[in-house]
Amino acid sequence: MNDFLKSDCSNCFGLCCVALPYAKSADFPINKDSGEPCRNLCLDNRCNIHDQLREKGFRGCVSYECYGAGQHVSRKIYNGHDWRKSPERAKEMFKVFPLIQQLHEMLWYLDQALSLKETQSFHSCLRNMYNETIKLTEKDPEEIIKLDIATHRRKVNALLLKTSDIYRKDFIKKHKKRLDYVGANLKGADLQGVSFRGTLMIAANLSHADLRKTDFIGADLRDADLSDANLTSAIFLTQSQINSAKGNIHTKIPIYLKRPDHWIK
Ligand code: SF4
Repeated sequence: MNDFLKSDCSNCFGLCCVALPYAKSADFPINKDSGEPCRNLCLDNRCNIHDQLREKGFRGCVSYECYGAGQHVSRKIYNGHDWRKSPERAKEMFKVFPLIQQLHEMLWYLDQALSLKETQSFHSCLRNMYNETIKLTEKDPEEIIKLDIATHRRKVNALLLKTSDIYRKDFIKKHKKRLDYVGANLKGADLQGVSFRGTLMIAANLSHADLRKTDFIGADLRDADLSDANLTSAIFLTQSQINSAKGNIHTKIPIYLKRPDHWIK
């Protein structure tokens, strides 16, 4: 995985903690508008409660991932000019950040598709789309704000669907598509090769399940139990998804992810 697609908070102006709104819910204890700095954001852009986010009710922060958009916007697009010192550009910066986050997320998926041997036959298409997406992130802020991100996402999505179908081809007929797994008891189930694309899996019991060669793109795994599950060859599974789930030291995760701290405590 390319390093520039990993968040580097030390090179970001705390953009996710300012630019994004949040609402009182199971994920946040209070409301906050876009452009309003979170009450826990320190002047050095660090989070005052970084080690206690879940305990203090900020679970939404644990499951957020910027895919390196924060440092790209802070250091490359705005050349290190902090929103605090450039109030005239702050509003624009807060609009640009979530758009770059979406583009970086697409790059993260495309990067993974390119790393699979199963996609060799259309590597050039994936590479072209990757390069096209990179070019969008290099535009000026005024141009980024006018981008048609939805149309670009549809083009990327077509390639990611093709990737998933080829990667899971030995299992496609075996499993029927299901959209809702909320609270489902799938303990110990053989779910190899299933596409969980866009499915709701909130609080599902997936402990001891065989989840190899699955596709998790866009699945909502909040509070899903992945204890002792095998996810080693799952694709399009993000750090933010597993951060929002439960698991333990026996959960087998793909090498491109880090075991969440709360799975070890
Ligand atoms: S709680 Fe911490 S990580 Fe979450 S938005 Fe506030 S400062 Fe950022």
